[in-house]
Amino acid sequence: AGLATLADARDDGATADGHRIALLANIGTAEDAERLTDAAVEGVGLFRTEVLFLGAATAPTEDDQARVYARALAALGDRKVVLRTLDAGADKPLAFVTRAREENPALGVRGFRLVRHAEPLIRTQLAAIARAAKETGGRPWVMAPMVATVEEARQFAAMAREAGIGTVGVMVEVPAAALCAKDILAEVDFVSLGTNDLAQYTMATDRLVGSLVDLLDAWQPAVLDLVAATAAAGVATGKPVGVCGESASDPVMALLLTGLGITSLSMSPSAVPAVRLALSHHDLATCQAIGEAARDAPTAGAARAAALALVDPQV
Ligand code: PEP
Ligand code: MG
Repeated sequence: AGLATLADARDDGATADGHRIALLANIGTAEDAERLTDAAVEGVGLFRTEVLFLGAATAPTEDDQARVYARALAALGDRKVVLRTLDAGADKPLAFVTRAREENPALGVRGFRLVRHAEPLIRTQLAAIARAAKETGGRPWVMAPMVATVEEARQFAAMAREAGIGTVGVMVEVPAAALCAKDILAEVDFVSLGTNDLAQYTMATDRLVGSLVDLLDAWQPAVLDLVAATAAAGVATGKPVGVCGESASDPVMALLLTGLGITSLSMSPSAVPAVRLALSHHDLATCQAIGEAARDAPTAGAARAAALALVDPQV
């Protein structure tokens, strides 16, 4: 009863029939964490820590990082926090990690692939997170970006556990990872779908090219299939599968994702109220029907229309 009261006080996300789905925030700084006073936000599903590194001429020290992470963890108290390790490269170049210019940076050394030539950078970050956890009594989850293989997931999990972090996951934002989700989940405690990059890599469409935005759409059948495959791997293994890409902030997509078995949705904090409202107006069976109808559709437009046809017009 105590827990239920606490949950009610936080106004957790749930369908009309009480199926819970955590509604979390995407943040980039400790200040962002301190601004999350809205009771509707149950925690942080994606802390983009690279924001800390982007302007720096040299790598931030373990001390510098620990201070920032501790501030964020302290602000969030016992709420859930998922910190993503450095996602550098491609659209997020780092001044102090010198690399020869790459012909195709989005397909190059980005995200966790940095471990190949800058492993100490990632180890230092994990040590800083572990230290911040100890200092604050927080229990952060960590995840690595841009993982494509089971070996990478295994390597990251070993590094994070050696650093003393208890809950370890990886992002699923490359089609290969979505297709191997079950085997990846055997190595880690959870995964989180990054639908921005998953759409980019599935549709072979640069996410920075505005004129191709129709291709860069999480409603594209191929993207929906990969999301569904990842969600199914989570259901089969009993491990959490979240979504932290932009698509989680689309209330109709949020219903669909809930129907597929996704366990948390992380988005910009301002999007949370509309998603929570949509969920509260639909039961789980309707969310599942939305998922099935959308996945039967042959185009992104038809998928969206099929989903919308099942949505309560009041929402
Ligand atoms: C994503 O790719 O969907 C994601 C959440 O990560 P980012 O947008 O930071 O690449
Ligand atoms: Mg990404």
